[in-house]
Amino acid sequence: MTALTLSNVNKSFGAVHVLKDINLSVEEGEFVVFVGPSGCGKSTLLRVIAGLEDATSGIIDIGGTVVNTVPPAKRGIAMVFQSYALYPHLNVRDNMALALKQEKRPKAEIEKRVAEASRMLSLEAYLNRRPAELSGGQRQRVAIGRAVVREPKLFLFDEPLSNLDAALRMNTRLEIAKLHRQLAASMIYVTHDQTEAMTLADKIVVLRDGRVEQVGSPMELYNNPANRFVAEFLGSPS
Ligand code: ADP
Ligand code: MG
Repeated sequence: MTALTLSNVNKSFGAVHVLKDINLSVEEGEFVVFVGPSGCGKSTLLRVIAGLEDATSGIIDIGGTVVNTVPPAKRGIAMVFQSYALYPHLNVRDNMALALKQEKRPKAEIEKRVAEASRMLSLEAYLNRRPAELSGGQRQRVAIGRAVVREPKLFLFDEPLSNLDAALRMNTRLEIAKLHRQLAASMIYVTHDQTEAMTLADKIVVLRDGRVEQVGSPMELYNNPANRFVAEFLGSPS
C-alpha cells in the first residue's frame, strides 16, 4: 500500500512556477526526507501535500484517495512546523488535546491519547505548563505530541529542529526516529541538514529549483550521486 503518490504536481504563485512536475511516492511506514537548498520548494511541497496550498495541476493521492479537494483536517495527515505554532494561552495538555476536541472525540479517548503521547515524548511532568514556561526542545516535543495524538497515517515535518541548538537537535532527532519505529507511520521530513537526512531516511528525495533531482536510499545517493549537485549536497567526494 502506498501512503502518498504525487503525479505531475505543479504549483505556481502567480507567474512564479515553484513546483515543476513532481512525481514521487511514499510507501506505508517509510521515512522519506526531502532535502535541497533554501528556496527550492520543500515547504511549498509539504504545504501542497497537507492541503494548506492548492496544487496548480497534478494529482495528490493519500492512502489510495485523491485528496486534491479534501480539506487539510480530513487528509489523515499531521504537520509539525519549525516554529512550533503552539497556542500560548493553552497549557501543554490543552495544546495537545485541541484538535481532538474540535473533532468532538469522547473525553476518555482524548485523555488516553494525550497520556500516551506525553509518555512517548517524556512530557508528563509538563502537562500543566504553558509554552512560555518550556524550553525550545520541550516546545518542539509538544508540537510533535500534538501531531501524534491525531494518529495520522502520514506525518509531515518541516525543518522541525532548525530552531534548536546542536545537542538538542541530536536528541530530538533520536526522539523522532524512535517515534517512527513505535508508530510505524509514514513520515516525510524536510531538512537542509545532510546529517539528519543521512541518519533518518529510508529514502531521500533531492529537490533542486522545484524539481526532483534524484531519489534513492542514503547509501545509493552517497555512492551513486546522479550529478555534482547531489554529490555536493550529500557531502560525498565526487
Ligand atoms: P524552501 O522551503 O525549500 O526553502 P519554499 O517552498 O519556502 O522553499 O519556497 C520556494 C519558492 O516559492 C521561493 O522562491 C518562495 O519565494 C516562493 N514562495 C513560497 N510561498 C510563496 C507564496 N505564498 N507566494 C509567492 N511565492 C512563494
Ligand atoms: Mg522551507
